[in-house]
Amino acid sequence: MQLAAAGLRVACIEPEDAIRQAVGESLDWSAPDLLKALGLPMDGLVTERMATWKRHVTMKLRDGASEHYVPGAWLADAPLRIELRTLHVDRLRLDEELLKRTVESGVSVIRDTVTKVERNGDRLSAVHTASGVRFSSPWFIDASGFASCLLPREFNLPAIQFGPAKVAIWTYFSVSKLVEGTTLYMEPLPAEYLEWVWEIPISPEVVSVGYVTTGAAMKARREQGLAVDEIFRQQLMKYPRFDTLLQAGPLGPCNVTSYRSRVYDGVAGPNWLVAGEAASMVDPITANGVTAALRHAADASALILKYHKRGTLPLRARIAYNRRILQMAKFFNVGIEKILYEPAVRNRIGARASGTVYTTPAWSMNVVYARLKPKGILKTYLLGLVLGFFRASAWVFSECCKRLPNAAETAG
Ligand SMILES: Cc1cc2nc3c(=O)[nH]c(=O)nc-3n(C[C@H](O)[C@H](O)[C@H](O)COP(=O)(O)OP(=O)(O)OC[C@H]3O[C@@H](n4cnc5c(N)ncnc54)[C@H](O)[C@@H]3O)c2cc1C
Repeated sequence: MQLAAAGLRVACIEPEDAIRQAVGESLDWSAPDLLKALGLPMDGLVTERMATWKRHVTMKLRDGASEHYVPGAWLADAPLRIELRTLHVDRLRLDEELLKRTVESGVSVIRDTVTKVERNGDRLSAVHTASGVRFSSPWFIDASGFASCLLPREFNLPAIQFGPAKVAIWTYFSVSKLVEGTTLYMEPLPAEYLEWVWEIPISPEVVSVGYVTTGAAMKARREQGLAVDEIFRQQLMKYPRFDTLLQAGPLGPCNVTSYRSRVYDGVAGPNWLVAGEAASMVDPITANGVTAALRHAADASALILKYHKRGTLPLRARIAYNRRILQMAKFFNVGIEKILYEPAVRNRIGARASGTVYTTPAWSMNVVYARLKPKGILKTYLLGLVLGFFRASAWVFSECCKRLPNAAETAG
């Protein structure tokens, strides 16, 4: 949209049927400004019933304990004046609206799938689609998502992975009462990697409910002969909140996806950039995926506009774009793996305190990113220093928790 608005001819190639059911429904506190820049302010999205307010995140443990995570009211005052509200979104409706606006802005949407790229060394010259059409262009953005990663695969980019492979199962329930927040249900067992359940109100009447576990745990249960929906139901039955929802009728169709948090190194070339999950997969519990995708898209578009007359991205711009994506992905993924998923820290300080230890820098860094607007190499390195400091702190803290005696005595 930004490219078309600036007068460039833009074609977006995307198959009619999405490869994965749209997910990414609980937005972090940086997403609203990015949506506003696309002409979708929060109030409008809520009024149009494409979104509900997300005023807090609540962690509910199986033993009944719970914790609310709310940005401090002081953040809304001078000098910071930070917006304390964000949204849950109905992705089908939001994506429809985005598509409508994209077409209205002058972008040609082509319902096809890219199957091959044509290149001359590091430079792309054209893409070929499943229906046999060749599209040439001076510039390319790859936003093909986690499952495809077209250009990272084409250029064999090195991937940095975080944590084990995971599986998510999710469905939708009708509800009569709206909760203006995301709820995360978990049973943090001292010796085990964390599994969790999300509840996200995507409209006043519908909640999205999903279960995330490791690929290995899912495989073990499947080998015991359990069907996916039975595994899902068993998890939901652990929490009284879902009793009435499960009793109301059979489970709706279950969506299943597998993924692994990771980031590619080298996501910009002389005339191409990779954006969204094709570049970096941030763990869903961070609620940073949509923000990251919108940020990458805005950043990539701005770079193309700046350098399109020159026809090539200078090396420093490529390095800076790549570093921003790399550092943010490492920051969120290392933080959440060390502080919450792995047992060492939560065993020592308790899962609720782990949530606070994770969310405080995570929220702050999103704000720092939005305010710093790191475009050039200098600000990118400055941001990298701060992110690196937090990442190293998470690692050191986790190592200390592992080595100190009696690490498994506190939980909850
Ligand atoms: C289980 C789960 C829960 C999540 N929850 C959250 C959350 O609560 N909050 C949050 O912010 N984020 C969340 N995320 C992340 C979020 O879904 C994504 O980061 C966000 O949707 C951006 O994705 P994307 O646009 O990069 O990729 P996608 O949404 O996957 O889009 C990629 C598009 O490319 C198309 N495509 C693929 N291959 C080709 C090809 N060869 N040619 C043409 N088109 C192609 C696909 O059809 C698709 O339309 C979650 C992710 C998962 C897996």
